[in-house]
Order: sequence, then C-alpha cells, then structure tokens
Amino acid sequence: MNIILIGPPGAGKGTQAQKLVVERGIVQLSTGDMLREAQASGSEMGQKVKDIMARGDLVTDEIVIGLIAERLDSGAAGAGAIFDGFPRTLGQADALGEMMASKGLALDCVVAMTVDDDALVARVTGRFTCGNCGEVYHDANKPPKHANTCDKCDAKDSFKRRPDDNEESMRTRLFNYYRDTSTLIGYYHAKGLLKTIDGLGEIEEVAGRMNVALDG
Ligand code: ADP
Ligand code: ADP
Ligand code: ZN
Repeated sequence: MNIILIGPPGAGKGTQAQKLVVERGIVQLSTGDMLREAQASGSEMGQKVKDIMARGDLVTDEIVIGLIAERLDSGAAGAGAIFDGFPRTLGQADALGEMMASKGLALDCVVAMTVDDDALVARVTGRFTCGNCGEVYHDANKPPKHANTCDKCDAKDSFKRRPDDNEESMRTRLFNYYRDTSTLIGYYHAKGLLKTIDGLGEIEEVAGRMNVALDG
C-alpha cells in the first residue's frame, strides 16, 4: 500500500506514520528526517539546507525529489510506503506521480489531516524525539513512561528538540503550508484519491480514523 500524509507542521503525520509502519509493515519516507540526517552527516547538501530549514522555508524541489528518487530506486519501498512530508508542492507531486508510474507503483490513498493553528503551535513547541530511534514525544500529550528514557528503544538521555520548533519558524512554516502545500488537497481530490480526517483528539482516536480512511 502506498499512502501520502498531508498536513500542516505538527498535525501528527510522523506520529501516525510510525504507527502504520508497525501495523502494516511498510516504510516511512520522511523528507524532513532525510534532510536532518543529511545535516547531521555534515554533507554539502546538509549544510546548504540548514538555514532554510531553521527559518521554516521549503528547500528546493530538486533536492527532495532527488532524496525520494534514491529511496524508490533502492527498492526500499517494495512492500509499500508512507510519504510523510512529501510532496509539498505541485512540482513535487507531479514528479512523484511520474517516478511511481515509471516503476509500476500506484498511489492508493492520500490522507489530509486537519488541525487548527493554535493546537499546531502547542504541538510543535512541546515536541521532542529520541535521537537514537526517532520516536516522537510531546511534553504534555505523549511523555515517555520514564523521564529521560525512550519507551521504544530504551536509550537514556537521547531526547532532542528541533531548532525549527519555535513560534517564529512555525509562523513561516504555516504560511508556506497554506500557500504551497494545501493546494495539493485539491490536486489529489481531483484524482479521486483524497480522504480527510480530523487530526484533533487522542493519538489513538486519530489512528482509528486513519484506519477507517485507509481501509473503508
Ligand atoms: P514538520 O514535521 O513540521 O511537518 P518536516 O520534518 O516534514 O516538518 O520538515 C522540516 C523542514 O524540512 C521543512 O520546514 C522544510 O524546510 C524541509 N522539508 C521537508 N520536506 C520538504 C519538502 N517535501 N519540500 C521542501 N522542503 C521540505
Ligand atoms: P508532524 O509530523 O505532522 O509534524 P508529529 O507527529 O511530529 O507531527 O506531531 C507533532 C507533536 O504533536 C509531537 O510532539 C507529537 O507527540 C504530538 N502529537 C501527535 N499527534 C497528537 C495528537 N493526536 N494529540 C496531541 N498531540 C499529538
Ligand atoms: Zn528511542
């Protein structure tokens, strides 16, 4: 199964994608995670995108299309993929359609998650992740069971926060989302692939809506 998750920053795409990976045995392709890995590795591309990401602007289509092409070429998405945070522009959406068609892959469903702006700001400003396994947490909404220890991989003192999860960068990210990315909702609706779910509520409740959208 190949799924795209569309939603503003903090909507819960990564959280739901991680659940789908466990439940459905498919891979999560997050361009945000790939770009952060490129930065951590000190690569030239990582250096190039560092300031753009910290500000909350979009990196070029060419860079993210290249990252996704690499994963598709490597066969990583053989059993299916959840595209999380990609595509974010019409150019990226067209490129993804072409890449998938050339490999005989089909898109099964595009799920748009809606969450109001106030809740989004509260979500990203409380977000932190495990630096070892990538599990996503929140100060109030999803704290780890034991302070400083990851529930999933048991790593100690591995939690980290993103430099772009602050109110100023968030304003830019929301602006870019509504300007460039939300138009994809119409694009996939026109292709007959769109499902929209309410992203407010408990994580498990949202997961239930996600499963209905994907299987119903
Ligand atoms: P969020 O969790 O807030 O939705 P991501 O982790 O998906 O954010 O992305 C973080 C940043 O990485 C974005 O603000 C943007 O700078 C860059 N980025 C990620 N994916 C894309 C993409 N598909 N196109 C352009 N820029 C991207
Ligand atoms: P995205 O990938 O769309 O940017 P994340 O999955 O990283 O969003 O979630 C953003 C923050 O909100 C994280 O701290 C996460 O723990 C929290 N979160 C995710 N889903 C919910 C939910 N349904 N209710 C409350 N908080 C949530
Ligand atoms: Zn972990």
